[in-house]
Amino acid sequence: MKFFSLNKKKYATLTVKENKSENKKVEEKEEKIIKKIKITGLWEKCPECHEIVYKNDIEQNLQKCPHCDYYFSMNAKERIALLIDENTFQEMDKDLISENPLDFPGYTEKYEVAVEKTGMLEGAVAGIGDIFGIKVSIAVMDFDFLGGSMGSVVGEKITRAIERGIEFKIPVVVVSSSGGARMHEGILSLMQMAKTSAALERLREVGVPFVSIPVNPTTGGVTASFAMLGDIIMTEPDALIGFAGQRVIEQTIKQKLPNGFQRSEFLQECGMVDVITKREDMKRTLHKILDNII
Ligand SMILES: [Zn+2]
Repeated sequence: MKFFSLNKKKYATLTVKENKSENKKVEEKEEKIIKKIKITGLWEKCPECHEIVYKNDIEQNLQKCPHCDYYFSMNAKERIALLIDENTFQEMDKDLISENPLDFPGYTEKYEVAVEKTGMLEGAVAGIGDIFGIKVSIAVMDFDFLGGSMGSVVGEKITRAIERGIEFKIPVVVVSSSGGARMHEGILSLMQMAKTSAALERLREVGVPFVSIPVNPTTGGVTASFAMLGDIIMTEPDALIGFAGQRVIEQTIKQKLPNGFQRSEFLQECGMVDVITKREDMKRTLHKILDNII
């Protein structure tokens, strides 16, 4: 039995007979199901237009609100499905896992919860696939996995994705969404900034392009390293991209920051972002760019 939207109550796969008592029964049944759906968390409140939206409708709409086009976050799997031609993606380094090198209290437990929540072993997926026939080495970060934080495995996966670009002379695409470094791994996490950046320098030396796609939100050490080193930096509308948070900056410099500060449109005006593309156009735009630069 399927419901497609709360607003379309009658659009259920129920047999509706022209009989009042039957109709009542059907309505009662519907109400019970709706209640159940609500309880099982299949609805989402849009933070922009405050409409209650059926999650399935958001999923079917590339994780955008069907009422106001608000962009919900996409997980790594969905992003790969959005950008990579069907049946061409070969995942690599899938089994790399994080340890708790500093014995950081609670890290192992948090890591296990993230694995359970996302079905992934780490916060990034990497591999090789085609974008309308152009082979690329791609890595995608997943914000659902410990806030998209860059620990040593995420950094390693991104570095290896860059190295595949060097080895096979294919463009590298990295989609990032991250809260920054993974504090539970301390200096080992910070080291990933240098490691990824150094790999990108080697990529530059062999003349292979790197397209960086920071999406909402990309902050901290990821912005401060590879995400801002793209030959082309592309993002989605109204994405938050920055190093420190707005409040922290305001408190530090004791000044009010302009409207839209750290959002894609503002960053494009400042020259930090090259292209802003709607989610539905992202693959086409990316293909156009790659087609022109390789
Ligand atoms: Zn909305």
